[in-house]
Amino acid sequence: MVSKGDNVAVCNMKLERLLSMKGGKGQDSYANNSQAQAMHARSMLHLLEETLDNVHLNSSVNPSPFTAVDLGCSSGANTIHIIDFIVKHISKRFDTAGIDPPEFTAFFSDLPSNDFNTLFQLLPPLVSNSCMEECLAADGNRSYFVAGVPGSFYRRLFPARTIDIFHSAFSLHWLSQVPESVTDRRSTAYNRGRVFIHGAGEEMATAYKRQFQADLAEFLRARAAEVKRGGVMFLVCLGRTSVDPTDQGGAGLLFGTHFQDAWDDLVREGLVAAEKRDGFNIPVYAPSLQDFKEVVEADGSFTIEKLVVYKGGSPLVVSEPDDASEVGRAFACSCRSVAGVLVEAHIGEELSNELFSRVERRATSHAKDVLVNLQFFHIVASLSFT
Ligand code: SAH
Repeated sequence: MVSKGDNVAVCNMKLERLLSMKGGKGQDSYANNSQAQAMHARSMLHLLEETLDNVHLNSSVNPSPFTAVDLGCSSGANTIHIIDFIVKHISKRFDTAGIDPPEFTAFFSDLPSNDFNTLFQLLPPLVSNSCMEECLAADGNRSYFVAGVPGSFYRRLFPARTIDIFHSAFSLHWLSQVPESVTDRRSTAYNRGRVFIHGAGEEMATAYKRQFQADLAEFLRARAAEVKRGGVMFLVCLGRTSVDPTDQGGAGLLFGTHFQDAWDDLVREGLVAAEKRDGFNIPVYAPSLQDFKEVVEADGSFTIEKLVVYKGGSPLVVSEPDDASEVGRAFACSCRSVAGVLVEAHIGEELSNELFSRVERRATSHAKDVLVNLQFFHIVASLSFT
């Protein structure tokens, strides 16, 4: 009998139809495992503010709505906090400039399998039009219209020249697909024995880098058509400080150590065939500043206002850092909240449980090292369109 997941290979199925963070509100859901992302985003708000100060404010009498988009919104509350922040900041700018503010629209966008229902349930209620301005400052209310937009940000999502601000956090390191050569056993880029590029061969890393750069180029091309003149983009994705792409920094430690070892455990114990493991690859690439810059410059549509590598910190939130089992659990939950859906599609839920219990055990026995060394760096890009 074919068990669930046996005939599904992440490598050759359309990733965009499958990928999502773990939905719902359970222990290993993204909604419950994104506090670290929230903290990293908070520490970068001053950079977001600088970007928001660059966006052109329309002072015409009957302006179209001011439109902000969050790309890769996922199913947690982070996206709502960011959109709230953007709307409040821009409203204040209209006030200061003595211009009547327009109405605001926010689009939450992600791949179709994202748990939009959980996200929509987290949205605060919309205040009525007449008291929108008074309520702007009141917490617990929403002063903007919303809609969810399913689709890949590597393609067009909006009509031409309709968007004032694109925001995207912790999403652009997800590739549109695992490069074919990486899953082709005859190719020199075949990732034998590994499930991520951290510590892999040079050819494999080059294939990932090419995929990242081709994807980012498509992203910029689509956004350049959709953004209004005077509009801006604020992009944050996992990045690395090393020039060597096989050293993936924090992403490398998350997917290239205990997660990798747990896969090897399953192979050694005869629960998963070696080839099955080799066919699984995490479609993430943490670029260097240079990798990112080359693409923005080659595209040429956007002016780089700022492009920096920013230290975000640990992706783990633990209340008792000395409690090794809490650290191990946090590591496994964090890993599963972002990669669990892909793992389950590849080996089914039962084996996925086996895998992540081994991830937890291994991370628990290296708790100190995990806490100190698992640090995320982000590429932060502030771009404007004139
Ligand atoms: N921005 C959120 C969530 C980041 S998780 C936060 O700050 O907490 C990364 C999100 O990127 C996931 O929800 C994933 O589904 C989405 N994503 C990955 N590839 C994508 C693509 N090609 N198009 C749209 N969304 C994508």
